[in-house]
Amino acid sequence: MRIILIGPPGAGKGTQCQRLVEQLKVPHLSTGEMLRAEVRSGTAEGLRAASFMEQGHLVPDSMILGMVTKRLEAADCRAGFLLDGFPRTLPQASALDELLERRAMSVDGVLELSVPSEELVRRMLARRRADDNPEVFAKRIASFEAQTAPLLHYYDQQGKLATIDGLGDADEVFARVQRALVRFGRRAPRT
Ligand code: ADP
Repeated sequence: MRIILIGPPGAGKGTQCQRLVEQLKVPHLSTGEMLRAEVRSGTAEGLRAASFMEQGHLVPDSMILGMVTKRLEAADCRAGFLLDGFPRTLPQASALDELLERRAMSVDGVLELSVPSEELVRRMLARRRADDNPEVFAKRIASFEAQTAPLLHYYDQQGKLATIDGLGDADEVFARVQRALVRFGRRAPRT
């Protein structure tokens, strides 16, 4: 299955992704993780990415697209994948569609983890990651609203969007994710 998980920072994507990849036995493609690895290895690309990430800005599409394209071409992605943190902008979404189309593939479904912003702030204050200071976090939420939220409409129009209530404990949320997967499975073209 080829699935995308979309949600604002702090929505609980990490936890749900972990469970999903275990269940679906597909690779977890997190652009945030890929970027953090690049930053840790201290490459020129990594340094450039860090300057955007530290300020709560998105890394330029060109850099992300190169990284994701390379990853999606790997053999382990042939049977499916879970994309986390990508696409994050409309240009990224259409680039992904083109990339998959060239290989006669498409996305099976898009899961939106929906959590009100007051709750996101509350969770952020409780967890505290390095790039989580309140000011940067507010920018990341704003960038989600401005650049990523339009993707929900894009995928809804394609009939691929499932909105999941992200409130409640991880088990409850995962049960909702399961119900959405069944719907994706029913709709997926048989090949
Ligand atoms: P979160 O989901 O908590 O916002 P991620 O781990 O997905 O965090 O990403 C961390 C940072 O990496 C983002 O704030 C952004 O700067 C950068 N990033 C990750 N994915 C993308 C992407 N697809 N496009 C642009 N920037 C990205």
